[in-house]
Amino acid sequence: MKIKSTNKIERNGNVAPAPAGTGACRICGAPLRHTFVNLGMSQLCESILNVDQLDEVEAYFPLHARVCEQCFLVQLNQYVSPEVIFREYAYFSSYSTSWLAHAKDYCRMITNRLALNGQSLVVEIASNDGYLLQHFRPFDVPVLGVEPARNVAEVAIKRGIPTRTDFFGFDVASRMVGEGLRADLIIGNNVLAQVPDLNDFMSGIAELLKPYGVVTLEFPHLQRLMAESQFDTIYHEHFSYFSLLTVIRLAERHGLKVFDVEELYTHGGSLRVYLAHLEAPFRQESRVTSVLDQEDKFGLGKLSTYTSFAKRVCRVKRNLLGYLIGSKDEGKTICGYGAPGKGNTLLNYCGIGTDFLNFTVDKNPYKHGRFTPGMHIPIQPPEMIDELKPDYILILPWNLKTEIIDQMRHVDEWGAKFIVPIPNLQIIDPREHLA
Ligand SMILES: [Zn+2]
Repeated sequence: MKIKSTNKIERNGNVAPAPAGTGACRICGAPLRHTFVNLGMSQLCESILNVDQLDEVEAYFPLHARVCEQCFLVQLNQYVSPEVIFREYAYFSSYSTSWLAHAKDYCRMITNRLALNGQSLVVEIASNDGYLLQHFRPFDVPVLGVEPARNVAEVAIKRGIPTRTDFFGFDVASRMVGEGLRADLIIGNNVLAQVPDLNDFMSGIAELLKPYGVVTLEFPHLQRLMAESQFDTIYHEHFSYFSLLTVIRLAERHGLKVFDVEELYTHGGSLRVYLAHLEAPFRQESRVTSVLDQEDKFGLGKLSTYTSFAKRVCRVKRNLLGYLIGSKDEGKTICGYGAPGKGNTLLNYCGIGTDFLNFTVDKNPYKHGRFTPGMHIPIQPPEMIDELKPDYILILPWNLKTEIIDQMRHVDEWGAKFIVPIPNLQIIDPREHLA
């Protein structure tokens, strides 16, 4: 399908520089005049490198997040089209145990709450390898995945999860409706941030949704990002960063209302919002007002709250670098744990290369023997930690720190400690860390 975009000029087929300096808000079109945080120049986070690519030129793009003074959407300019990002997407959700459990619990809960049955249709947008939709099987609820990455969609289809390879938007939704498909439930988990044209996406949802259907969207909560200085969740593949306030404004533009919201612990603190058509008979739950009040108290309705965020980010950088430099001066060895997209923002912004980390490890075999973009840190299987026996392990996916420390508890045999950079620098001795 054709991707619509307002601030993209295609050049060389892939690279699409935005207008110099600013651009227009992805939701309301207001000019973007205010900096949220400027993380310098960086590569695409998911473009991990093979050994033969290490001498090639890498493309760097400004990682400069701005905030809209009208609707408070925090956003990056889009430099690369989603086709390029998702052509061969390295991230398979199935590799995190806590995320799998989260998906299974959700399917049981929502099947009961909406009384889904064999006549219902559940559509998941960006359905990945089918890790979530598979959990509707015990309830005999028909499902359909829409997944842009062909290699990932193929895995889902092999598992028996009907999946179409498409970038979801209004055109795809209309085609689906033309084929007689309407959804009782539309699921979008961690997809909103990656949508280049939010109005096109939301109008597609409104089109595909049955009159009494429900949409649930999960996304990292901007308030948590700000409160906990989670600047490393900002990367080129995530174009937008949302509060409940902003999502309500976006939904209303497309005849949808938010009638419930849950606060989740996933991805460093997320929201799960429930949407329906404006005229559908869903009463607004008190949780909506309570999260909105909380956002208001935090200052998410005031521009100055956003423009003062960058100072906190600088402090995280100084604290982490100070500790790493001190440890290296003492002759300690350090390696990383995890090679998530967010890890690369942190490594690049702080300038942490192989002068600090011997390597990083990841459970995903797809990444083994490859290198992180920019800093070129080798990615190894987790067993390499047992061989090197480092003094410190820097946890890059800090949102999974409890799970990782539990899995790696045995490193206390040689006295290794964990470094957690965010929200505040924390050094954790696994002997003192209780699960
Ligand atoms: Zn706006």
